[in-house]
Amino acid sequence: MPSLLLLAGDGIGPEVMAETERVIGTLNKHGANFELSHGLVGGIAAVEEGAPVSDATMEKARATDAILFGAVGGPEFDHFSYDMRPEAGLLRLRKTFDLFANIRPAICYPALADASSLKRDVIEGLDIVILRELTGGVYFGEPKTIEDLGNGQKRAIDTQVYDTFEIDRIARAAFDLARARRGKVTSMEKRNVMKTGVLWREVVDQAHAAAGEGVSLDHMLADAGAMQLVRDPKQFDVIVCDNLFGDMLSDIAAQLTGSLGMLPSASLGAVDERTGRRRALYEPVHGSAPDIAGKGQANPIAMIASLGMALQYSFAMPDAAKALDDAIAATLADGIFTGDIAYGAPSVSTTEMANAIIERFEARL
Ligand code: NAD
Repeated sequence: MPSLLLLAGDGIGPEVMAETERVIGTLNKHGANFELSHGLVGGIAAVEEGAPVSDATMEKARATDAILFGAVGGPEFDHFSYDMRPEAGLLRLRKTFDLFANIRPAICYPALADASSLKRDVIEGLDIVILRELTGGVYFGEPKTIEDLGNGQKRAIDTQVYDTFEIDRIARAAFDLARARRGKVTSMEKRNVMKTGVLWREVVDQAHAAAGEGVSLDHMLADAGAMQLVRDPKQFDVIVCDNLFGDMLSDIAAQLTGSLGMLPSASLGAVDERTGRRRALYEPVHGSAPDIAGKGQANPIAMIASLGMALQYSFAMPDAAKALDDAIAATLADGIFTGDIAYGAPSVSTTEMANAIIERFEARL
C-alpha cells in the first residue's frame, strides 16, 4: 500500500494541507489506497513536542514512501533558540534523508498567462522543471572565510567544490525525471571559466552513457541558459545544474509563472533499498504566510500540485498526476481564483478553490 506522511506545519500549512488531504481522499475513493500518517513540524512541534521535528515523527518519516510538507514559521516563533527554530525541522528532514535534488517545476496555466512579465505566446503552456543540486557546491564548500588583510582591505572566500559522486547522482536523478516527462535534459554549468564546470560536464556525459537510456542530453553555459530561459523557455524539459546556478535559474523560472501560491516543489534523495523508491519530500515553495493565516484566503494550488508531483515522481501514477494538473488548469480556465491570483476579479476561499479542483479532478479519474 503506498504511504504518505503529512506534516502540515504552521500558519497556512494546515489550511492547505487539509484541502490536499481531501484530494488524497478522492484518489482513495477511486482505488489508490494511500495509507496516511500525520505529524507535527515547525513552530507547533517545538511548542507541543519540544523539538521542531520530534524523533517519533522522524521514525514515521523513515517508514513512509514520501512526505508531504506544508509550511513552517511565523512571528510567534521568531524568538526561539537556534535549535528550536521552525526551519530546523525542515533542515533535519533534508539532512537525515540526504535530499540532494531539488525539483521546481515552472508551469504556466493559460488562464494566468497574462500575469507573467513575458508575452503570452512565449509563456502559455510552459511546463519545465529545474533540477537543482541542493547539498553541495559553493554554499557549503570550505574554506569559507572573510579575512582581514591588515591594510584596510578584507578578502572574502567562498569555495565551489563538487565531487564526482555528487554530480553523478544529480545527473541520474535528472534522467529519471526526464523519463517521466518528455525525455530531454539540458545540463548547465560554466566550464569555460570554472573547473567544477569542466568536471560537471564530464560526469554528466558519463552518467548519460551509463544511465541515460531514452533521454536526450544537451549542454549549455549557465549564462546563456539564463538568457534562453526568458527568450524561449518552452525549448526546455528538464534543466539540471549546481546549487548556485540552480538557485538563480529556479527563481527566474518561478517568476515566469506568477504567484507564489502556485508553485510546488520536491526534494529527492537516494533510492531507498527497502522500497526501491527515492526518498522524497514534496512541499509548496511558499512559506506559512502569517498575514493571511486563519482567514481561509490561502491558495491551496501549490500544496495540491505538490501532491501531483508525488503522484508523478514517487508513485508512478502519471495519469492521476495529469488528471490533477488538468483539473487545476480547468478550474483556473473557469475563472475561479483565490485572492493572490484574482488581480481584481472576484475571489474564492481556500476551501472553495479546493472544491472546484476536486470536482474537476473526480470527473477526470
Ligand atoms: P511567505 O511565502 O509565507 O509569504 C509571502 C507572501 O506571499 C505573503 O504576502 C503571503 O500572504 C503570500 N502567500 C504565500 N503563500 C500563499 C498562498 N498559498 N496563497 C496566497 N498567498 C500566499 O513568505 P514570508 O512572508 O517571507 O515568510 C513567512 C514565514 O514563512 C516566515 O516565518 C518564513 O521563515 C517562513 N517560510 C517558510 C518556508 C517553508 O516552510 N519552506 C519557506 C519560506 C518562508
